[in-house]
Amino acid sequence: MNVVMMGPPGAGKGTQAGLLAERFGLVHLAPGDLLRQAVKEDTALGRRAKEYMDAGRLVPDDLIIELIGSRLREAVAHRAPGVVLDGFPRTLRQAEALTGLLEKAGGLDAVLNLCLPEDEAVARLTGRRVCRKCGANYHLVYKPPDSPDTCDRCGGPLYQRSDDTEATARARLEVYRRETEPLVTYYAEKGLLRDVDGRGSVGEVTERLASALGLDG
Ligand code: ADP
Ligand code: AMP
Repeated sequence: MNVVMMGPPGAGKGTQAGLLAERFGLVHLAPGDLLRQAVKEDTALGRRAKEYMDAGRLVPDDLIIELIGSRLREAVAHRAPGVVLDGFPRTLRQAEALTGLLEKAGGLDAVLNLCLPEDEAVARLTGRRVCRKCGANYHLVYKPPDSPDTCDRCGGPLYQRSDDTEATARARLEVYRRETEPLVTYYAEKGLLRDVDGRGSVGEVTERLASALGLDG
């Protein structure tokens, strides 16, 4: 089963993609996570991507398609039962490329579109904290760590992503509306789109997603 997780920044894509991957044995592929790792390691990709990410803009399509393409080829080579793509595709060109990339992997089964009002997305983004060591994700209000600034899972330090300030969060939402939202119609026309309400607790949203995939119960 190959699934795309769509929705505005802050909708809960990473949180839910991680949970679905664990529950159904899928490979979780998130270009944002791969790019942040590349920035941290100061690779050629990281150096090219950083200025776009800091400004809340999309990294050029060619770089992202190459990055995700190589990971998808790896997943196929390892006979993964499927992938959940979190934050890809974000442009029409990426969506068209994905069709080709998934040809040998059974094609795309569903696009889960997490819907969330913009002010709630901003509140989720500005309160987000991430573990520098293991990548675990927290929220100062909605999912606070047991002790401030420290990861419950591995004890690593928590930090705020540089693009999670209110100004950059709003810029990213604008980019989403302009460049990514058109994919909602694109996938609806292909009969793949499932709109899912992203409000409520993490558990409630997970159950809605499983039910949208026909995998509940
Ligand atoms: P995205 O990957 O779409 O940008 P995340 O999964 O990183 O979103 O979630 C953004 C922030 O909102 C994180 O701090 C996360 O802990 C929090 N969050 C995720 N889902 C919920 C939810 N259902 N209710 C409240 N907070 C949530
Ligand atoms: P995310 O972790 O999904 O919030 O993504 C963080 C940043 O990484 C985005 O604001 C973009 O700069 C970049 N990025 C992630 N996914 C993509 C993509 N599919 N296309 C272009 N840029 C991306």
